Amino acid sequence: MYKIPLFELNYGAEEEAAVLETLRSKWISTGPKTAAFEKEFASMLGAGHALALANCTVSLHLAMKILGIGPGDEVICPSLTFVATVNAIRYVDAIPVFADIRSSSDPTMDPADIRKRITDRTRAIVVMHYAGFPCAMDEIMEIAHQHGLKVVEDACHGPLSEYNGKKLGTIGHVGCFSFFSNKNISTGEGGMLVTDDDRLLEQAKLLRSHGMTTLSYERSKGHSTGYDVIESGYNYRMDDIRASLGLVQLHKLSADLGQRAVVRGWYEEAFADVPEVIIPFRGHEGFVSNYIFVVVLDETCGHRRDEIRNSLHQAGIQTSIHYPPAHRFSIFSQNAVQLPVTESVADRLITLPMFSKLSRDEVVYIAETMKQLTRG
Ligand SMILES: *Cc1c(COP(=O)(O)O)cnc(C)c1O
Repeated sequence: MYKIPLFELNYGAEEEAAVLETLRSKWISTGPKTAAFEKEFASMLGAGHALALANCTVSLHLAMKILGIGPGDEVICPSLTFVATVNAIRYVDAIPVFADIRSSSDPTMDPADIRKRITDRTRAIVVMHYAGFPCAMDEIMEIAHQHGLKVVEDACHGPLSEYNGKKLGTIGHVGCFSFFSNKNISTGEGGMLVTDDDRLLEQAKLLRSHGMTTLSYERSKGHSTGYDVIESGYNYRMDDIRASLGLVQLHKLSADLGQRAVVRGWYEEAFADVPEVIIPFRGHEGFVSNYIFVVVLDETCGHRRDEIRNSLHQAGIQTSIHYPPAHRFSIFSQNAVQLPVTESVADRLITLPMFSKLSRDEVVYIAETMKQLTRG
């Protein structure tokens, strides 16, 4: 057991009560709780529509499907992301084309590098808002507009994060969210697809449930008795047990993220006199989710990253790596590609604990330990 874990689930009696209520209602699959969760999620983001799903991976898959991405199409994406972002492109037999990140202080996709990767076969860009901090969306949307490309936002890290007054996930054509247990909103497994486009929503809704024209909840209410199947769809539904957890979590979200911003402030302060430790997005203005807290070691100690992580673990501090870059995995190795910034940053980064109950003393302890190790 670690003295300070990487993450602590923000769950309590409210979640227990919500699940119990759903169990006692005797409707546990997709139904009224799922519909309520979708409605609240969409209105929280100011999105036209939200569709609840089994997880974010299938949300990314549906995004590819409804945007018409298919065999041989090229989709530009980051390598410094969770592998699901890239796998989803492969599900529709499209080709992931990795773009580099900007720098250690802004590890989001570099618009200049995106431009260089565009070919006649490019159809879409999938962005990932790293740690909940926005990609350069004005430039990326401009590139997409110039080349007639679709934009999917993998906004798993950024519920409620803002960019120029808009919520992340609502800027591109489709936004995808995850409610996996360690995300800002936790339902165990779960995901959401958001879009302003009525037609895209209808297609995603069909594909979510076998291509069937009605849901069993609607039939049980007598709204319709039969159904047709008009696409080879999937079972990508969320159930009402998870949706009821999601509703409680939504109500806690603002307060949780507010406290995370305080924790981040403590980190920035505690590392102020440690130039060896680079804090990406330091001093960022604008509301962000702070899903994870990642630091990048500078050249003087970056080569000792794994050793420093081991020492942190011995000091009782759990850490992680977000992420081992996808282009280095065997499955993507045939997409031989030069990503010098991604490679350099990925080898020097460490994810430190971040959750709303982290105390100032714990943050100071982590920073002091890091300071000794980086200079050691
Ligand atoms: C968590 C995560 C996913 C996958 O979400 P699931 O709900 O676990 O399928 C995809 N992309 C990013 C960036 C993530 O953090």
